[in-house]
Amino acid sequence: MVALPFHMSTITSLGVLGAGQMGGGIAQIAAASGINVTVFDAFPGAIAKCQGVHKKSLAKFVEKGKMAQADMDAALGRIKFTEKLEDLGGSQWIVEAVVEDAKVKKDLFAKLAAICPDENVVLATNTSSISITDIATAAGKTAHRVVGMHFFNPVPLMQLVEVIPAIQTSKDVVERTVALSTKMGKTPLKANDRAGFVSNRVLMPMINEAFYAWMEGVAEPEAIDGIMKLGCNFPMGPLRLADFIGLDTCVHIMNVLADGLNNDRYRACPLLRQLVTAGRLGDKTGRGVFEYPAKP
Ligand code: NAD
Repeated sequence: MVALPFHMSTITSLGVLGAGQMGGGIAQIAAASGINVTVFDAFPGAIAKCQGVHKKSLAKFVEKGKMAQADMDAALGRIKFTEKLEDLGGSQWIVEAVVEDAKVKKDLFAKLAAICPDENVVLATNTSSISITDIATAAGKTAHRVVGMHFFNPVPLMQLVEVIPAIQTSKDVVERTVALSTKMGKTPLKANDRAGFVSNRVLMPMINEAFYAWMEGVAEPEAIDGIMKLGCNFPMGPLRLADFIGLDTCVHIMNVLADGLNNDRYRACPLLRQLVTAGRLGDKTGRGVFEYPAKP
């Protein structure tokens, strides 16, 4: 197949696995860029929640004059939801964004390979830390069509897509991933399939170091974040960002770095682990490094 230039993705139908924060966001930006989307989630509650988030998020774009009401209505009309994985069968492209669990993802990729027998259908994963090469093995002899397509949170606002080929991924699939990301209004940048890719390889050790600085009494959390914001021009301090990401997720990614790069300097800071043990996971539990009183 001839590779398409960056701006020329011909994809008109997308299947998304997972109606959570990331899957919902990916479905929204795809629909807003004219693509018909089918979102699969195993849990009905997740689907209802996602529908509400779409309406609220798109309405904000309309309020700010960044989108016409008619375009919002058209985008919502392009999104279908399903609890049956088989309904993704007709899609030209799949993006998986379910829970960060290698077993769950590999199980789904094996099923997808059977549901989408056409080898032109790309099977992309939005994993933030699991090896793309490992996930690709689940697609058996069509592993060449599996690729990492790593969006950032919140998807409608964040510009980057980190494009990560597995060892098995064909060059054509990488080029088509770049083209589709561009069509969806994002800026794709490539990274190789090493633990943490680029984003988490660089970001997470910095966040971990901020916990060490706090644990060793270098400064209090407010000062650590203030210094990094004012002195390094960060929009958000590393400890506030850790709460936003989820402290459990931070520990998980540090484990992936330590194991994948085989180096103990990537082990999670004991204080970070302790907060997770205490159930202080960040925004999602109302308390992490900082406190987040529930909104009325
Ligand atoms: P989330 O918990 O908000 O959503 C996950 C969704 O998957 C839920 O709706 C859940 O119902 C669904 N799900 C779980 N198991 C399933 C199954 N077996 N079959 C079908 N659906 C299932 O999580 P998220 O934050 O959207 O993360 C999804 C993926 O995106 C993960 O791989 C994560 O690492 C990655 N990611 C997350 C972020 C982030 O900041 N949250 C950023 C980049 C990448």
